[in-house]
Amino acid sequence: YGDANQKVDYVFKVVLIGDSAVGKSQILARFARNEFSLDSKATIGVEFQTRTLVIQHKSVKAQIWDTAGQERFSISSSLLLLLYRAVTSAYYRGAVGAMLVYDITKRQSFDHIPRWLEELRNHADKNIVIILIGNKSDLENQRAVSTEDAKEFAEKEGLFFLETSALEATNVETAFMTVLTEIFNIVN
Ligand code: GDP
Ligand code: MG
Repeated sequence: YGDANQKVDYVFKVVLIGDSAVGKSQILARFARNEFSLDSKATIGVEFQTRTLVIQHKSVKAQIWDTAGQERFSISSSLLLLLYRAVTSAYYRGAVGAMLVYDITKRQSFDHIPRWLEELRNHADKNIVIILIGNKSDLENQRAVSTEDAKEFAEKEGLFFLETSALEATNVETAFMTVLTEIFNIVN
């Protein structure tokens, strides 16, 4: 996990998006520091973490951006809307990958995915690599979104798709590697 004293061949910016409380920050904590917290605090503003890894003998620094999510659909004042647009465009600027996260136990977080895709298509590069992630796969007994529905949606939209558990560390590494390897193959 150490980034120190490593020569870096590539820096890839990847953004995490999706409704609040779906587990974006814990997915990032798991990937960047192999940590998880059940009482994680709501993300305020924008933050990023990095992890350097090796893909096909090249050193790739993944710079993963994380932000709050929920207030995006409830902004009314025009001043706030201007601020929101400025922050949004900075958030997406230069991003080459996106992880679009929902919670498999919260139907609404999946139903909002088309809006997040639209935001991506409005603000991000059109060649951005996108993976749809159904998080909290450890809560199988509370599942509200079937794997088949999500897979079908992903195929229709041309997205990669995986279910993850940040808690159990299931598929988190694979999800990041899927996006980073695809980006790597595009730039090489
Ligand atoms: P964010 O708002 O999308 O950044 O969501 P957080 O990462 O802050 O997580 C919201 C809540 O869900 C926290 O209580 C986390 O501990 C919990 N959580 C996140 N990932 C998982 C997971 O994979 N499984 C379970 N059971 N809980 C999770
Ligand atoms: Mg967060």
